[in-house]
Amino acid sequence: MSITPLMPVYPRCGVRPVRGEHCHLIDEDGTRYLDFASGIAVNLLGHSHEGLIGAIQRQAETLMHVSNLYGSPQGEALAQRLVDKTFADTVFFTNSGAEAVECAIKTARAYHQHEGGDPNRTELITFTNAFHGRTMATISASNQEKMHKGFYPMLAGFQYAEFDNLDHARSLMSDKTAGFLVEPIQGEGGIRPGSEEFIRGLRQLADENDLMLVFDEVQCGVARTGKLYAYEHYGIEPDIMATAKGIGGGFPLGACLATEKAARGMGFGTHGSTYGGNPLAMAAGMAVMDAVANDEFLAEVTEKGDRLRARLEQFIGNYPDLFELVRGKGLMLGIKMKVESRPFFVHLRDNHQLLTVAAGDKTLRVLPPLVAGDAEFDEFLEKLSAGAASFDVAAAA
Ligand SMILES: *Cc1c(COP(=O)(O)O)cnc(C)c1O
Repeated sequence: MSITPLMPVYPRCGVRPVRGEHCHLIDEDGTRYLDFASGIAVNLLGHSHEGLIGAIQRQAETLMHVSNLYGSPQGEALAQRLVDKTFADTVFFTNSGAEAVECAIKTARAYHQHEGGDPNRTELITFTNAFHGRTMATISASNQEKMHKGFYPMLAGFQYAEFDNLDHARSLMSDKTAGFLVEPIQGEGGIRPGSEEFIRGLRQLADENDLMLVFDEVQCGVARTGKLYAYEHYGIEPDIMATAKGIGGGFPLGACLATEKAARGMGFGTHGSTYGGNPLAMAAGMAVMDAVANDEFLAEVTEKGDRLRARLEQFIGNYPDLFELVRGKGLMLGIKMKVESRPFFVHLRDNHQLLTVAAGDKTLRVLPPLVAGDAEFDEFLEKLSAGAASFDVAAAA
C-alpha cells in the first residue's frame, strides 16, 4: 500500500508544529517559526491565548454537545451578540466556512422560492478567482477549474462575472438571477479588495431588483481588517453573510448571518447541522467576541495594520525586481510580487522560519495574529529582509 493514512489531498511540508506560543509555532524538533499565517486567518488571538483556553476548558467540563432539538442558551447568547454587532437579525451556526457559505446559498435561493417570491430566480452571480470552500456547492460557486477537475458534474445555478467589474455583473443579470455572492476582499484570490464602486454598485443592483447580496467574509471578517466585518468599510450592508475562520479563534466554528427579510425561507425543518452551534464552539466564539468586538481592539488592528503596511511599502522599494505593491486592509495584507509567490513563500518558511501564505495573482499573504505587536513586526521585517536578500529571483522567475 502506498497511500498515506492521511488522505493525500494536501501537499504537506516539512514543518510539523506541536505547540504554539502567542505568535510562534514550535516544531517537533524544537524549531521556532514566526506565524504570520495564523492558520490562514484563523488564530486571531495567536496561540495559547489564556482567555480562549479558559473558556473552552470551562465549557468542556460543563457541557460539550447537545442536540439542536433542545433549547440553546449558549447559542442564543452568541447569536444575540452577533445580531447586536452586525446588520443581521438571525444566525445559523456551522462548523466551517464552506458550511456557512452553503447555508448562505440556501438562504438566498429560499428567499425567492418562499411564498411571495419568484421561484425562477435560482442563479447566483459569483466572481472570478473567488474561493468559497470545497464542498460541491462551494466549488461550483467558483470559476476555478482546478477545483472542479475530477468532480463533475458541478451544481447548476452559478454565473461567473469578472471580479471588481460591475458592468460585467450587470450584463449577466436575467430573470433567473437570485443575487450576488462575493468576497468583499478576496483572500485566496490574492488579497484583492473590491472597489467601493463595485461593492456599492452590487448593493444598488440588488436593491433595484429585489436580489440577495451575499457576502463571503469567511477570511476577511472578524476584526481582521480593522472592522468587525469588512462590509463596514463600504458603508453598505449585505442581506446574508458567511463568517468562519477567525470567529472561533482556532476552534471550528462558522455562521451564516441574515436579515429577517432575507431569512424568510429558512423556517422549521429547512436546514440543520448535528454539531452546529454546540456549547463548546459557542464558548470559543464568545471568548473571541469578548476580545475583538470592541472599538479599542478594532482601532488597534487598524493602527497596527497601518504601521505594518507602511513598513512593508518602504521595504519593497529595496527589491523592485521582486515586489510590486502592498494591498489589503488592516492586518489582511498581501504583497503582490513580480514573480510567482510560492517559491518565495517556501524560501521564507524553510530558510528563515517565517510562515506566510501564498495566494493567487502572485501574492504573498501576510496574516499575523491580531495580537501581534511591534516586537513581532520587527522580527517579521528582519526575516523578510533576510529572505529577500538571499532569494534567487532568477531561479523563481
Ligand atoms: C477558507 C474560506 C472558505 C472555506 O472555509 P472552510 O472552513 O475551509 O470550509 C470559504 N470562503 C472563504 C473566503 C475562505 O477564505
